[in-house]
Amino acid sequence: MLTTMSIKNAYLLSVLDDLKKKNAHEPEFLQAAEEVLESLEPVVEADPRYEAQNIIGRIVEPERVIMFRVPWVDDGGKVQVNRGYRVQFNSAIGPYKGGLRFHPSVNLSVIKFLGFEQIFKNSLTTLPMGGGKGGSDFDPKGKSDSEVMRFCQSFMTELQRHIGPDTDVPAGDIGVGAREIGFMFGQYKKIRDEFTGVLTGKGLSYGGSLARTEATGFGLCYFADAQLKDNGKSFQDKKVVISGSGNVAIYANQKCTQLGGRVIAMSDSNGYIVDENGIDFKIVKEIKEVKRDRIKTYLNYVPSAKYVEGCAGIWTVPCDIALPCATQNEIDENSAKALIANGCIGVFEGANMPSTPGAIAAYQAAGILFAPAKASNAGGVATSGLEMSQNSERLSWSFDEVDAKLKGIMEGIYAACAAAAEKYGMKGNIQAGANIAGFLKVADAMLWQGI
Ligand code: NDP
Repeated sequence: MLTTMSIKNAYLLSVLDDLKKKNAHEPEFLQAAEEVLESLEPVVEADPRYEAQNIIGRIVEPERVIMFRVPWVDDGGKVQVNRGYRVQFNSAIGPYKGGLRFHPSVNLSVIKFLGFEQIFKNSLTTLPMGGGKGGSDFDPKGKSDSEVMRFCQSFMTELQRHIGPDTDVPAGDIGVGAREIGFMFGQYKKIRDEFTGVLTGKGLSYGGSLARTEATGFGLCYFADAQLKDNGKSFQDKKVVISGSGNVAIYANQKCTQLGGRVIAMSDSNGYIVDENGIDFKIVKEIKEVKRDRIKTYLNYVPSAKYVEGCAGIWTVPCDIALPCATQNEIDENSAKALIANGCIGVFEGANMPSTPGAIAAYQAAGILFAPAKASNAGGVATSGLEMSQNSERLSWSFDEVDAKLKGIMEGIYAACAAAAEKYGMKGNIQAGANIAGFLKVADAMLWQGI
């Protein structure tokens, strides 16, 4: 289990202690920071500059936190208020980059954990992108298109003064898809009178990249495939359970099915479906992207499938491979143990921090394969980086060109994580390898740039 007790280095302990005092009410952020700090112990001990320059103390503190009021008018004429956030965590290796999440569970702790993870993820992609994240406690679910538009316009009216193509480039995340990005881009353009690549995940007609929609799910499967193959295994004929049914989950289903797997369960926040014949991603796409409906309506298309109310039970469905693609802390220790008891050989994270520390400890104790989110879901932001390149060049690359680059990047990330783990005496520990490989580049840039 990842606890403070497992960190012995006095410098790391003092940073963590200070962090806990200052951020006592931010459990998700503390969880993410502690997990990274633990992995960095051998790195900090091997190079005294990190302590001398207080790199760890600086990397856990965001460069800037912006919180703002987002007033908007609902269809009934009532004035609503939500809270907006943008955390600009680290710009050592490039402009801040990271998605916007619109979900009622959003608070500063959630945005800080996501922004912190983003620093290392973006570094792993090898592209020049710093770490940031933002969002709001606004819930797009059940809102009309007009309400979503008015909210997005109000959100961008404030956010626009803090972002820019060379400063901070937001993208989508939970609750922020093509519709929301379009409304926000339109408002940015109107206010700033400039057409730039200030957001990624844009529509194809106005600067979006082919394969960006598919990128996180496809990238997850490219990463998992590389890790499986490195361990003499593959997706072929494997039963796969995927949580969520949003952007990441849908395209993870498509790609792992192409790679020979069979997706037998998927979920949303209400419940999960089981179809032993394999869940058709096209039907899920229709339900979620077109109809914006609930996953249980899958049974209208495939009456032989089963629906179970409550999403946590999905991890009790026996499978070979688990791809958590919904949200943070969705697999706790008990769910991890249920997966392992049912013969699961690997958990590859599509969502950000979907496994609790107890779940990760259970994977490690059982010796199953584990791919941490900051490495395995980096395909989305990597392709956002490719969208930024295309916008700068004023060119659009073909789907195959972007997809091939994505595959190369994901295989490269796996190799970098595996090599870093081995170098620091933790062969096969891709979790530690991801934290170390992601950290080294950012820390080096911080050392060069001074205090
Ligand atoms: P979407 O909004 O498209 O889909 C989210 C899915 O997860 C929905 O099925 C949703 O169900 C479910 N979900 C959300 N919150 C909860 C919850 N609290 N409990 C149970 N289920 C929940 O989001 P994405 O697919 O974009 O994002 C999924 C995860 O992947 C997130 O952790 C995100 O940070 C991460 N990610 C996304 C990237 C991207 O490119 N989109 C890139 C990298 C990471 P419901 O519809 O019922 O709310």
